[in-house]
Parts: sequence; C-alpha cells; structure tokens
Amino acid sequence: MVQEWDVILVGGGIGGLSCAHFLRQVGFRVCVLERSAGLSEVGAGLQLAPNALAALREIHLLPDLLPLGWIMHRVDLVSTRSGVLSSMNMKDKTVLAIHRAELQKLLARDLGLEVLRFGVGIESMHEEGDRVRVMLRDGVILSARLLIGADGLRSQVRTQFFPPVTLRYSGTSSYRGIAAAPGLLSDPHVGGEIWGPGCRFGYAHINSHDIYWYLTFDAPPHETRTPEAGKVHALQLMAAFPEYKAIVERTDLARIIQTDISDIQPTTHWVQGRVALMGDAAHATTPNLGQGAAQALEDAWALGVALKKFGLEPIALQSYQAARQSKALWIVRQSWSFQSMCHIKRPWLQTLRDLTVKHMPARIQQATLARIDKPEVGLSEGS
Ligand SMILES: Cc1cc2nc3c(=O)[nH]c(=O)nc-3n(C[C@H](O)[C@H](O)[C@H](O)COP(=O)(O)OP(=O)(O)OC[C@H]3O[C@@H](n4cnc5c(N)ncnc54)[C@H](O)[C@@H]3O)c2cc1C
Repeated sequence: MVQEWDVILVGGGIGGLSCAHFLRQVGFRVCVLERSAGLSEVGAGLQLAPNALAALREIHLLPDLLPLGWIMHRVDLVSTRSGVLSSMNMKDKTVLAIHRAELQKLLARDLGLEVLRFGVGIESMHEEGDRVRVMLRDGVILSARLLIGADGLRSQVRTQFFPPVTLRYSGTSSYRGIAAAPGLLSDPHVGGEIWGPGCRFGYAHINSHDIYWYLTFDAPPHETRTPEAGKVHALQLMAAFPEYKAIVERTDLARIIQTDISDIQPTTHWVQGRVALMGDAAHATTPNLGQGAAQALEDAWALGVALKKFGLEPIALQSYQAARQSKALWIVRQSWSFQSMCHIKRPWLQTLRDLTVKHMPARIQQATLARIDKPEVGLSEGS
C-alpha cells in the first residue's frame, strides 16, 4: 500500500526538522525520512544568530530553547600578532550558543514517530504526474505532492534530480569539542575567535558548565587520526593560543570531532518540478559566519510562507527559491572569501590584514551584520 503525504522531507537535521514544523503549522501533512538510527548525542556547539532565533520564535520553540543554551554578551576577534581587532557587543540583540543535540532534540520533540522516521534507506525517487514517489529499501512506498531534500552536503535528492555540483574543500580541517570547564573563563558570557598563523581557535560557553571550542587548521583533505592522536595534534596547535590550552586539555577524547571544511560552489539549481533542495543540500557554506544552520532555518520559514500562499504546487517551490537565493548564496560567497583571511601565515600579510579589519568602517560592518541578522523569507514588509 502506498502511504500518501502532502510533503516528504528527506533528512532530519536542523533544516528538515524545522521545515516540518513550519509546514505543519500552515496545515500540511509532512513526513521526515532520516537515515540515521536516532538522534545523535554527539556533536558540537552552534551559535544561533538573531535570524535563526527569529525562525525558532515563529514555530513557538524559542521559550523552550533559550534555557537550553547560553546567551552571549560579546564576541572578541583577536589576532595573535596584533591583539584585539574588534569586539562585537551583543547586549542589544540575542545570540545563543547551544549544543547542537539540544536544538535537534527540541525540534524532534513533538513530531512523533509516524512523522519522523529514523533508520530509513531510500531505494528510489521519481516524479509521477502531480506526485513524487519514494520507494524505501524495506519495500515501503510513499507518495507526496512535493519532495524536499534536506539531506545535507552530500544530498541523495540533489544527486538524483539535479545537475552535479562542485564540492569545494576549503584547504582547512577542524577539531570541535565540548570541555567541562566551569569557572575557567573570567566572563562566561564572552566568546572569542583568535587568528594565529595557519590556524584559528574559537570558544563560547553553551551552558554554565560546558565550553564549546573549535580549532581550524590547514590540512590536505580526508586526513584522519585516531582520537588520541587528534587530541595530541589539537594540543600542539594550541601552542599558538597558550591562554586557552586548558580548554582543550579538559575535553574528553569522545567529545572531540574532526570535520573537513567544505562548501558547495554557489548553484541556482534548487528547484526542479515538484522537488526542492534546502539547507546544506542547496547551499552548504563554510562555517566562518556561523550561519549554516541559520540559513537552513530561514529556508524552512520561506517554504512555510510559500506553501501557505501557493499550496502544494511547483510555483510554491519557485517562490521559495526566489525569496531565499540572494541571501543564502551571498552568505556562501562572503564566508568563502573570509576563509582565506583567517589562516594567513606571512607576518607582513597578517599585519596588513589586521590593520584592514581594525579600521574597517563601522557602517560596512553594521550593514553586513544587519543583512545577516534579518531573515529573508519572502514576507512582504509589515506582514
Ligand atoms: C565546523 C562547523 C561549525 C558550524 N558552526 C555553525 C554555527 O555556529 N552556526 C550555524 O548556524 N551553523 C553552523 N554550522 C553549519 C550547520 O551545522 C549546517 O549548516 C546545518 O547543520 C545544516 O543543516 P541541514 O539540516 O541542512 O543539514 P544537516 O545538518 O547535514 O542534516 C542533514 C540530515 O540528513 C540526513 N541524511 C543525509 N542523507 C540522507 C538520505 N539519503 N536519506 C535520509 N536522510 C539523510 C543526515 O543524517 C542528517 O541528519 C557549522 C558547520 C560546521 C562544519
């Protein structure tokens, strides 16, 4: 028997789960197909900027979310060569640092196991008249008016329905970890990012007890180490940031993950008939602006707006892309160009970069931040 839905979402990450909320809120029957066996407790921290929080407010999850994370008051950008380059005061806006698993658990909480299905393998997908049919590996067949690929950087939906994209390895890999380190930072509401030669370290509390940190470094792609060797390597890199070495020292091996940093070369192929891509599947970005999850949340919101207006028709998907493309691809480009600045090794180039960042006109910085912080989801002004 074929199971009928309005919309099938492939991928139960932040994008797919939040999209399920937005679409259910406007009255559609959705099903989320997730490959992994359950919600993962592993993962690192996320910084949720005002646009991400606005999306979560829209689906009424913000009051429950805020106590799970940690409000940041300030983020300092520092160069090991030149000292403080900028201090971003956040007292007039809310930025929340949180463990990714906390956000995912909250997004999954009210969906129920009929809607959110774990351990799903997709055998085939194809458009058939005014529906899309999905056959699962266990023989179950589902059919829906629309199919949305929220299945991340290496999306199966994208591979099946869209022209090939270029995955770009940034030349840097990362370690991320969560340290049990209450009291280590003098002001736990202040986070920071420090640029060293060929590497960068960032940190923020995600609750009163734990500090999320990341360390990026130049490396060939797919370099892997055992957890023990990874921690030793991370501690070696921390020689550039001795003040913060204790954070990495206090991190259990099991709470350190290595991820190569890649994005998708900007593409405008997000919609094909009754199939659309969202989040990392459409526009994966390097994490330099801390905006990947936020952009997935904006996509989910825009899909809710478009489907409410146009119903379960391809024009709704086109309207979603029209609303989102400009900002999402701008983020990808900005973040990619930012990448090359953080790891400069030559001292004179570091000095030049530091002077440029330090003396960047405030109006340029403010305009960039204002664009990042304001959701672009296809709502007309005042709606
Ligand atoms: C080092 C690093 C730091 C980051 N820091 C931040 C930050 O501070 N702030 C921020 O906003 N963003 C940050 N991001 C980005 C953010 O993590 C991603 O952009 C965000 O998770 C994208 O969500 P998504 O749902 O589109 O994709 P994903 O999170 O990748 O979720 C995709 C889901 O689809 C599932 N899936 C994949 N294939 C299939 C399939 N064939 N069938 C079924 N299910 C499938 C996967 O299991 C997964 O659950 C960071 C990323 C990195 C790498």
